[in-house]
Amino acid sequence: MSTLTVNPVKDRAERDTGFPPVPELGEGEGNPRCLWYWDVCTDTPTKKIVWRGKSSSENYAETLCARHYAVELSRFTEVHFVDCEGTVASHILDFGDM
Ligand SMILES: [Zn+2]
Ligand SMILES: [Zn+2]
Repeated sequence: MSTLTVNPVKDRAERDTGFPPVPELGEGEGNPRCLWYWDVCTDTPTKKIVWRGKSSSENYAETLCARHYAVELSRFTEVHFVDCEGTVASHILDFGDM
């Protein structure tokens, strides 16, 4: 049995930079639970956001319930995107229904 060490404070600080989340094994499409990061959400994900990684192998699909999907997209557009010189397409490859 493997143990997984998670440091929520560090992860959250990295998330605050606005960079796309780092791919994590065992998550992404196929995960049965909403991947909302800021709290535990047990809702079934129906929406996805595919973040562009540094390379195509690092692209990351974030699967979320409808509510957190909306929150995540508005967090990106209203918090990160304000100070970012990139385009939406430079961050998000695909989004919408799973
Ligand atoms: Zn959720
Ligand atoms: Zn950016």
